[in-house]
Amino acid sequence: MSHVMNTYARLPVAFERGEGAWLWDTQGKRYLDALAGIAVNGLGHAHPRLTARLQEQVGRLVHTSNLYEIALQEELGDRLAEISGLESVFFCNSGCEANEAAIKLARLYGHKQGIEAPAIIVMEKAFHGRTIATLTATGSRKAQAGFEPLLAGFVRVPFDDLEAVRRVAANNRNVVAILVELIQGEGGVIVCHNDYLKGLRAICDEYKWLLMLDEVQSGTGRTGKWFAFQYSGVKPDVVTLAKGLANGVPIGTCMAAEPAATLFKPGNHGSTFGGNPLACAAGLETLAIIEDEGLTRNAIAIGELLRGQLRSRLSGMPGVKDVRGAGLMIGIELDSPCGEIVERALEAGLLVNVTADTVVRLLPPLIFTTEEAQLVVDRLVPLIVAFLERQPASGTPQPAPQPA
Ligand code: PLP
Repeated sequence: MSHVMNTYARLPVAFERGEGAWLWDTQGKRYLDALAGIAVNGLGHAHPRLTARLQEQVGRLVHTSNLYEIALQEELGDRLAEISGLESVFFCNSGCEANEAAIKLARLYGHKQGIEAPAIIVMEKAFHGRTIATLTATGSRKAQAGFEPLLAGFVRVPFDDLEAVRRVAANNRNVVAILVELIQGEGGVIVCHNDYLKGLRAICDEYKWLLMLDEVQSGTGRTGKWFAFQYSGVKPDVVTLAKGLANGVPIGTCMAAEPAATLFKPGNHGSTFGGNPLACAAGLETLAIIEDEGLTRNAIAIGELLRGQLRSRLSGMPGVKDVRGAGLMIGIELDSPCGEIVERALEAGLLVNVTADTVVRLLPPLIFTTEEAQLVVDRLVPLIVAFLERQPASGTPQPAPQPA
């Protein structure tokens, strides 16, 4: 019997090693990774430059404490400020912790204005994490069930609906912030319309609310810019990041601009591991590699190729509702629950995921090549077609070619 708590419905496979966009299981079978550890391994697996930097850092210093100055944390803070246009950064270890920091910032901001019970607007179908505060902010009754009482101080509205936000503004004087994903990842790769962020910014400016963006999944180059908000020209007040920032070394950040940048004072917040030398070295090297290898441009090109091919091969097919996304955050929505596609893909040597029951999700590494993208399409499309026709995929999947 396993002594690990039963919190995950795991697939029956264990990986032993990886190289680029490829993983090998303990039986030696090879898989093309179109999920990247759920948007974590943007540089793929065992990137030689990152590996060398991590080895060097491990041999020098892994952890000290936030009791002391940490030069690498300062350096990564500077770099994140530079690429985001925000002014200050708090370091933690995961996405939920990054959002916890954002929620605490919003509450501090509210109290500073004399609001005793500050509230944050959150969205239906949002996903912000599994701690009690971020679970409350998450818009899934299924995820919340059994963990009541949830926290007070959150108001939920439908996603991508400015009027709904305006209605809350007109009726609730306690609101101090909006927390939103621009592309709802776990919610089904749902992309907001072009003017949504501008509209939210205008409402936040009018009511003096903080505009807080959860870019835990969409950040670090995944949509083809450092951050998804950079497509809009809007400057948010708070942005959270995690997942891809250090390519698998745990890290999270909550970045803020004024009036939120200087709210935290010593003792207000903290994290033992947050921003330790190893995590910050990994973050700095990951950002440098993304820049040096032009991986945001690659994310745009490969994302367009994938969506274009998937659309042309699947559009018009009964049961396929939509192919959507931005950069390398891609969803194929079907008209029925399709979790079994994940297992069929695994058998065919391909790692994908299904979210929100009916959306096949692709989050490939940013290093994906044209050939790898083509292979994903060639393997996945027949599986989707076979699923929709309610019959096993025709033929035995061909073994994968060697990685380039
Ligand atoms: N926010 C978003 C948008 C996410 O997609 C996730 C994880 O999937 C989280 C927050 C939570 O991140 P973590 O699992 O690192 O706590």
